[in-house]
Amino acid sequence: MKFPIEGSCQCGQVTYKLKEPPKIVLACHCKECQKLSTSPFSVTAIIESNAIEFYGELNEWSRVAESGNANNAKFCPECGNRIYHFNPNDKSTIKLKLKPIDLENDILFEPTIHVWVSEKLSWYKLPDGVKVFEKQP
Ligand SMILES: [Zn+2]
Ligand SMILES: [Zn+2]
Repeated sequence: MKFPIEGSCQCGQVTYKLKEPPKIVLACHCKECQKLSTSPFSVTAIIESNAIEFYGELNEWSRVAESGNANNAKFCPECGNRIYHFNPNDKSTIKLKLKPIDLENDILFEPTIHVWVSEKLSWYKLPDGVKVFEKQP
C-alpha cells in the first residue's frame, strides 16, 4: 500500500494527507454516531496525530462524551462534512471520520471492533469475526 493517501470533503474545501495506516478502525453503534453519520453506525479510524496533515478551513463543535471527556469535532464549514474528532486533553491521536474514497485501499478502513452494540439497530447484523463491546471498552 502506498502512502500518503489523500482524502477530501464533499465540496473539496478540506483535504488531507494520511501518511501511515490507522492504529485501529472501529464501528460505533451509539445513538450519537447514528445521528452524526445519518446511518446505522459510524466508522472511526484512530490515527497518530503526526501521521496526518489537514488543509483548508475547519469549524469546531464540542460535546461531552459519556466518559466525561470532551469530544471535539472538526467539520467543513462549506459542506458540513464531519472530518475528525479529538480529545482536547489528549492530542496524541485523532479519530478520523471522513475516510478517503480509495477502492484499492478500502480494506484499510474495515472495522475490526464494534462498540456500543447495546444501541445497535435491530436490522443490522454484525459481521463474523469482529470484536464486540456492549458499550465503550
Ligand atoms: Zn466541504
Ligand atoms: Zn458512537
